[in-house]
Amino acid sequence: MSEADLQSRVMAALDEVMDPEIRGLSLVDLGMVERVEVDGGQVRVQLIPTYVGCPALGLMKADVERRLAAVPGVESVTVEFLRKPLWTTDRITPRGRERLKAVGIAPPAGSGPTEHWTPECPYCGSTQVHRENVFGPTSCRSIFYCDACRNPFEAIKPV
Ligand SMILES: [Zn+2]
Repeated sequence: MSEADLQSRVMAALDEVMDPEIRGLSLVDLGMVERVEVDGGQVRVQLIPTYVGCPALGLMKADVERRLAAVPGVESVTVEFLRKPLWTTDRITPRGRERLKAVGIAPPAGSGPTEHWTPECPYCGSTQVHRENVFGPTSCRSIFYCDACRNPFEAIKPV
């Protein structure tokens, strides 16, 4: 198998590794995969961690190693988390944004640290929403309530 073939198999496998906190969203959807290097059967994956403080990186590394070890042709896997560039919510792919909405989570609107941000309701698209509390289930997310369709939803904080 050529290295290019192996590289694309590795990418496809990474697309099956889901974020531990948001099931249904892969590392590729989140824009976390910065680089994949293939040298013979040695694979090196460089990931950009999402929000600092999400205590899921160890879990994610183990998931990536386990998934890639199952790819035919892969002999060894090294997973590294990069300190730079910093991950921003802009890196979430269009497919990732659709997948977030599908599980009832508003994708981040815009980017940059903001105190006052207003997501669109993932159910009806309304911006007539208000924040229920600042801290959602994780510090990455907040709970909002839609005044139009009266659904509560989570939103990802733009960074
Ligand atoms: Zn709504």
